[in-house]
Amino acid sequence: MHEYLNHRRQPEILELVSENSPVLREQCRRLTKDEILSAEIQNLIDDIKFTCSEKKTGVGLSANQVGKPVAISVVAIKPTPGRPNLEPFEKVCINTEITETFGEKVPLWEGCQSTALDENGEPAMAKVLRYEKVRIKYFDESGEEQEEIVESLVAHVIQHETDHLNGILFTDLIDKADLISYQEFSKLEK
Ligand SMILES: [Zn+2]
Repeated sequence: MHEYLNHRRQPEILELVSENSPVLREQCRRLTKDEILSAEIQNLIDDIKFTCSEKKTGVGLSANQVGKPVAISVVAIKPTPGRPNLEPFEKVCINTEITETFGEKVPLWEGCQSTALDENGEPAMAKVLRYEKVRIKYFDESGEEQEEIVESLVAHVIQHETDHLNGILFTDLIDKADLISYQEFSKLEK
């Protein structure tokens, strides 16, 4: 039995680091299989998932956004005020690499829990160009290596989260004059 199975405990809500925190600009450390299976990392994954589920907006979160510079991202798509029709979907990606892209980049609305937040703590949104379809290699939360092709919103979120693991924020990729408030975004026809 793996050590972590004896350490399961109630997940906690993690606090996000502030926008100017240097940890958001770090190259996140890749994890070995043993590290992935450790109690510390399994608890961190549980806490990131729980933190995502407790946030009204947002469809993904990476470990450096909660102050841990390790290469873990959680994709946590769910209906949000701005996108009420989304189908719930969850995936944990560790040591993620985008190994192939297909076709042209397409624009899609995007925001981030770590940057361009308004006074209510909601993310400003902008259209960001990303590949519609990508091949990814990653380790899952059981420490198994996976390779697959993802597309549409999942592909978009994974590109955003993989950027986080490399210290890149979505606001690096846009003209900040194109940002709109989350309220405005929620009223748009999409
Ligand atoms: Zn983000």
